[in-house]
Amino acid sequence: MSDFSRREFIKKSILLSLGASYIISCDDNDMIDNVNESDSNNNKKVIIIGAGISGLVAGYDLTIAGYDVTILEARDRIGGRVLTIRSPFSNNHYVEGGAARIKPSHDLTIAYANHFNLTLDPFYATTGNYVDFSNGNRTIIDNTTYLNTSYGSTMRKNYLKIRGGSDQLTNAFANSSELSNKIYLNHAVTSITQNSDNVIVDTGVNQFQADRVLCTVPLTVLNKINFTPALSSEKQSAMNGGFRYAPATRIYIQFKNRFWENESLNGWGNTDLPEEIWQPSWDMSGNTGVLMSYLRWSAAEDMDTLNDDERNNAILNRWESIFEGSINNFDRGVSKSWALDEWSKGAWASPTTSQNETLNESISQIEGRLHFAGEHASNDRGWMQGALFSGLRASTEIKNTN
Ligand SMILES: Cc1cc2nc3c(=O)[nH]c(=O)nc-3n(C[C@H](O)[C@H](O)[C@H](O)COP(=O)(O)OP(=O)(O)OC[C@H]3O[C@@H](n4cnc5c(N)ncnc54)[C@H](O)[C@@H]3O)c2cc1C
Repeated sequence: MSDFSRREFIKKSILLSLGASYIISCDDNDMIDNVNESDSNNNKKVIIIGAGISGLVAGYDLTIAGYDVTILEARDRIGGRVLTIRSPFSNNHYVEGGAARIKPSHDLTIAYANHFNLTLDPFYATTGNYVDFSNGNRTIIDNTTYLNTSYGSTMRKNYLKIRGGSDQLTNAFANSSELSNKIYLNHAVTSITQNSDNVIVDTGVNQFQADRVLCTVPLTVLNKINFTPALSSEKQSAMNGGFRYAPATRIYIQFKNRFWENESLNGWGNTDLPEEIWQPSWDMSGNTGVLMSYLRWSAAEDMDTLNDDERNNAILNRWESIFEGSINNFDRGVSKSWALDEWSKGAWASPTTSQNETLNESISQIEGRLHFAGEHASNDRGWMQGALFSGLRASTEIKNTN
């Protein structure tokens, strides 16, 4: 898809998802046709596997288009890798287990946040100084200088976050009148059987029948589902370790007070572990403060071999050289490993160049009545934007194939 048609596709998808009254008020006959078509879809059943953000946006879009949608989710919660953690923190503090920052170019993420009347705030701390710890040396970086540096291709000062937590967005989808009674938690799908005129989806306890199925399951856990007929050899290769995922682990430490402020620090920084350090509580009130260590790849894997207490100690011992007083002011800690999570087994798809060249296209390809979405099946892997885009791409496919 060219850049232009991709943008057009995104624009139309957003408008379609944002509801009929908005669509009818805009001068676009294609979209009005799509709305009128919804009555004819009323009896068409679509089962979506996974209530992460890609499954939710697809379900929302298809329900608006008149499809009979059911979403089956393995976990006891919606959201998948959008996970805001509120326990065991004091003062209503919360942290992000997964998706946290939003680039200004992430038009779909921002459009849906606006659609659900969510407020976007600056992600990085706008007060206090940052710290860099490399080769055993601590360097203080003043606020303005740090905010004008880049993370990826985007200046740090331009990153946004959702006020109240990223789960405000996934909750808004799930609690909408379109989806609120269509999501079944604790429904891990174990088999999918395609027949000539339908698909049977089985959880081992319940069976569901559909005209079309959308699978948003991460490739790392797709082999928990038995497919008949078998998936293409490319998808089998990708789901059996042939498409690399990045490990990521976050450790969150609540401190009794924000002792780093004595040095005019904001609790944020970087180390050469490599490690990002965030203070998720920077714009929240209360005496306590939460710092987060964000580790990826081998640093995450090393951390994953430790138990909770060992993780806290490992972090505190290192942070003592960065934020003196860490050990004395420790209150409690909690952590989240995505590589060890049974329904993620990895943080995001991060294929090698050759894996990408060989398998990328096949991963999102339709197989009979099965469609595929999820961040791994997008060009913006590792972002909500990619997951949203893939969900809308798949819902558009379903609308076009019926
Ligand atoms: C550590 C980390 C940091 C991140 N940071 C950012 C960030 O700052 N900004 C950003 O935009 N994005 C970020 N992301 C990426 C973002 O969270 C993901 O791209 C997005 O949430 C993926 O959505 P998804 O729907 O593709 O997958 P998921 O959220 O994984 O949803 C898939 C769902 O399928 C369910 N499932 C699996 N197997 C089955 C089965 N057999 N039956 C039924 N259900 C099943 C799972 O439980 C899950 O709920 C981050 C992710 C991580 C892990």
